[in-house]
Amino acid sequence: MQLPDSLAGRLLGWYAAGHRALPWRQDREPYHVWLSEIMLQQTRVEAVKGYYARFLSELPNIAALAACEENRLTKLWEGLGYYSRVRNLQKAARVIMTQHGGLFPREYAAIRALPGVGDYTAGAVASICFDAPTPAVDGNVLRVLARVTEDTAPVTQTAVKKQYEAALRPVYTANPGRRSELTQALMELGACVCVPNGAPKCDACPLREICRAGESGAWAALPVKEAKKPRRIEEKTVFFLQCGGQYAVRRRPETGLLAGLWELPNVEGTLDAQQALALLERWGLAPEELTRTRERTHIFTHVEWRMRCYDIRVSAPVGEFVWADSARFRQDIALPTAFRIFWQPEEPA
Ligand code: SF4
Repeated sequence: MQLPDSLAGRLLGWYAAGHRALPWRQDREPYHVWLSEIMLQQTRVEAVKGYYARFLSELPNIAALAACEENRLTKLWEGLGYYSRVRNLQKAARVIMTQHGGLFPREYAAIRALPGVGDYTAGAVASICFDAPTPAVDGNVLRVLARVTEDTAPVTQTAVKKQYEAALRPVYTANPGRRSELTQALMELGACVCVPNGAPKCDACPLREICRAGESGAWAALPVKEAKKPRRIEEKTVFFLQCGGQYAVRRRPETGLLAGLWELPNVEGTLDAQQALALLERWGLAPEELTRTRERTHIFTHVEWRMRCYDIRVSAPVGEFVWADSARFRQDIALPTAFRIFWQPEEPA
């Protein structure tokens, strides 16, 4: 793939003329850039802003992140999803403390070797913070470049992504001192002009004179992506168990989806009310009243949970659960959204 010679100049000029003032772009502190890039994976900018501010106010540096207690850490991530991201952030922070003397590594290879850091994040941090000639190729960049070159290779293939990185590398090499802006300009263009959903704003695009798909109208079919496998559907029965202002939760297994996080008690399959009450008795609980039945679907990347939830008042807080009141939930129990949608305490939370 050959990129147009004027690509970098056009991007840099356009970016210098104005761009969004994002909180994580106020400085080039690697902790800030790294944290924001991890948060922004699979999550919208607007949704990330509040989490980013709260996370940094509680954990202002890598040492604080490395030392943070687990419940507190997952609570700071509650609602963002993909909790392995925050676990890996902490693992990486501990590696930085023990192997890099508490200083974020400057070399691409050392950044890439941190837990949870892939090619894109390593390229982004290295170029934005340290002016390294390392492209950061994510979905936004693939879309922009596939359209500029009218390339029909499927960008979902790793080999094709590598070709894009290789094509961008000489552009980075040729622009020392400007690599931070180059990465951010590509991200900005993909987010705001050559947008992922709907028509690109070609009239406002600095690349319109060199973009083949903008000119031909072929943008709608680009980038080419291979069909995803359909999601697996799983049915579940969930229990929102209440007893005198306390609510039952337990830990999920240490492996698999939502590993090690808190959950509402649940079983595979859809039970009817009678089966649900009988199950609680087998769990050693004495159900007093079934107050409500709710049905919800929660979608993960590869799995879809179809859940029926029974709200049941029981006579005593027993069984193999942790019984926690609303204050404890607010303080340090992070319930993943799949279960949080059913957690509605009787008193104000
Ligand atoms: Fe995207 Fe249009 Fe710009 Fe081409 S000209 S990069 S299609 S916004």
